Amino acid sequence: MARILVIEDERGMAYGLRDNFEFDGHEVALAFDGEEGLRKATELSPDLIILDLMLPKKSGFDVCRELRAAGSNTPIIMLTARGQEIDKVLGLELGADDYITKPFSVRELLARVKAVLRRTGEVSSVSGNWRRVGRLLVDFEHYQAQDERGREVEMSVKEFDLLNYLVNHPGKAVSRDELLDKVWGYDNFPTSRTVDNFVVKLRKKIEVDPSKPRRILTVHGVGYKYVP
Ligand code: CA
Repeated sequence: MARILVIEDERGMAYGLRDNFEFDGHEVALAFDGEEGLRKATELSPDLIILDLMLPKKSGFDVCRELRAAGSNTPIIMLTARGQEIDKVLGLELGADDYITKPFSVRELLARVKAVLRRTGEVSSVSGNWRRVGRLLVDFEHYQAQDERGREVEMSVKEFDLLNYLVNHPGKAVSRDELLDKVWGYDNFPTSRTVDNFVVKLRKKIEVDPSKPRRILTVHGVGYKYVP
């Protein structure tokens, strides 16, 4: 999984790409013109940029050139239309890593993305099914978690199980009783206070600011809700 910035002014295309990348487990940010794209590329430092050539305010050529001039080596895949100056892109004069000509199949683009990420080593080589949860990458299957710098974060099995349950019910208000039932199974006679204590622990690990949670929200009178 990677963080991908899509700079594309055709909104239908941008949203479609976002959905597909997210489905593939990536985290996606969108920008709809060249200036916004350049700003987000700097602010968000994504792992990969999908950059349309023809953009309002600043062309994809200029965005690419300015990023490289600023020392960025983030991989860039250019989206071009037939007949555009592909040789310029290819000449690497601009520093793009690859390009794809519209119309393209999403599958083909996803394959290119994977290839570029593999080449640049941006995809973590650890095996497993990693998901981004707040500021962490979590592999629920193998009970592993790491922070944004790739450092291992220790979590107990119950913390993993609770987080897994919440993550798999995104946007749903889940009651403390349901969590006790599904995660603890009532075996150790836990109380609803137990759930609250574990949520506090999880927030410290996954939230950017645990005092202002944005991922695990409290639903008053009910329980908790995970927001992806
Ligand atoms: Ca365009």
